[in-house]
Amino acid sequence: MQRYQLYIEGKNVDPASGQWFDSYNPYTGEPWAQTAQGNAEDVDRAVGVAHKAFSQGPWSQLSASERGLLLHRLGDLVARDAKKLAEIEVRDNGKLIAEMQGQLNYIPQWYYYFGGLADKIQGAVVPLDKKGYFNFTRHEPLGVVGMITPWNSPLLLLSFKLAPALAAGCTVVIKPSEFTSASTLEFVRLFAEAGFPAGVVNVVTGFGKEVGTPLVEHPLVRKIAFTGSDFTGRAINELAAKTFKHVSLELGGKSPNIVFADAVMEDAVNGAVSGIFAATGQTCIAGSRLLLQESIHDAFVEKLVALAKTARMGDPMRMDTQVGPVTTPPQYDKVLGYIDIAKKEGAKLLLGGGPAKRPECGKGWFVEPTIFDQVDNKMRIAQEEVFGPVLSIIKYKDEEEAVAIANDVRFGLGSGVWTSDFGRAIRMAERIQAGTVWVNTYRAVSYLSPFGGYKDSGMGRENGIDAIREYLQVKSIWMNTGAVTANPFVMR
Ligand code: NAD
Repeated sequence: MQRYQLYIEGKNVDPASGQWFDSYNPYTGEPWAQTAQGNAEDVDRAVGVAHKAFSQGPWSQLSASERGLLLHRLGDLVARDAKKLAEIEVRDNGKLIAEMQGQLNYIPQWYYYFGGLADKIQGAVVPLDKKGYFNFTRHEPLGVVGMITPWNSPLLLLSFKLAPALAAGCTVVIKPSEFTSASTLEFVRLFAEAGFPAGVVNVVTGFGKEVGTPLVEHPLVRKIAFTGSDFTGRAINELAAKTFKHVSLELGGKSPNIVFADAVMEDAVNGAVSGIFAATGQTCIAGSRLLLQESIHDAFVEKLVALAKTARMGDPMRMDTQVGPVTTPPQYDKVLGYIDIAKKEGAKLLLGGGPAKRPECGKGWFVEPTIFDQVDNKMRIAQEEVFGPVLSIIKYKDEEEAVAIANDVRFGLGSGVWTSDFGRAIRMAERIQAGTVWVNTYRAVSYLSPFGGYKDSGMGRENGIDAIREYLQVKSIWMNTGAVTANPFVMR
């Protein structure tokens, strides 16, 4: 079995604990690799190295243009190794090769874009109100950033953070999910080849309490960039407050996908399916609440169920598979648990509703694509994130009620609006409390467009030009240009 060590100061090293744990292939249900079980000692070592690289090493001497060039080279290497990295993600995570190839071919854009941005971060000369002074600002990197990532789309979600952080001049310690660390460890090998100095990027694998917590507590870490559940995000935010760290949180969702009677039905049915069954529903932006206008409810549901029934399940490594396994056993149990909750709450089961026993699913952790109708927005199945292939259909009368239901959750990450009325699309986009609104499409993401949550879905934004500011702090520099002798006993 392949063994994945920690990655500290450009070297693969054993964990201080001397312990390893298995990483499973969700399709076969069998272990395929071993991951190093890091602890606080490893975190301290990695943070020390990252801090040295930030404050003394060659990295701190590079110009912003030179950092940008390194990021470009890294993007080229990811493009070269896209197939290999995609296959590792599929093996470790169970995501479809069809989706992972697309993701890996796209990820280089993050390094090109933020590499290009690295030397375009400019301060300003401030037109002061005081005579005899010249004042200007500089945007400086925060320092060592701890990045904590989840098990779904590990490399994409890491790139959302890593590209702007490195462009800004920070150094990094990554703690990937204990369920899917392999792709991150394969990926960081490319840093040395691209020419990054050792210590700029480090990886400590292991569990949340043993690696995540010491990383959040470490006094030399200046920022935590986290993607994961709201439960963990809250704990991290509270702990980070003790050392006044900057924190950005990309958390969960319960996103409404709203279809109006005037929508193009075929498109909206496709959008509803891709919103919840793509990636087996294991995406933070899953359109897990389908809001249907009363007048089209029956016709829509008929078409939706017919399409969802055709989903091909099975080996995620096959290009024609459409729904893969659930990534982890605890997540598998959680999804089945929520299906039971929905049944007990009185939602009407239209499709699926349990483990997939199809022969092509073998011993993998598969759940049948599941659709519940007659869901009330107050039910737990409508309020809590399932993170699996489980759709809740909720009926509404008019625009006003659609907005009220859409916003009546504590999350606010994604949302979809399906309508042919341009004015309504704009009105809905203005009124929905979510970081992203898709109109007549769903689940589109780009390095160019800001991404993040309202309400309990998080704070801070990734992607787009402003994302780099999450890794910078502003300094104000005052210079006395005049011979003004001020009274030293009052504010100047
Ligand atoms: P999780 O919160 O269980 O774990 C995320 C990471 O945090 C893992 O690396 C884990 O080891 C670590 N961790 C756990 N406890 C910790 C602690 N006490 N201190 C520090 N680190 C700790 O989430 P998950 O199950 O891996 O991922 C699924 C969740 O992620 C879902 O809620 C999903 O919505 C969310 N998610 C959000 C986005 C987004 O961009 N908004 C994207 C993908 C996933």
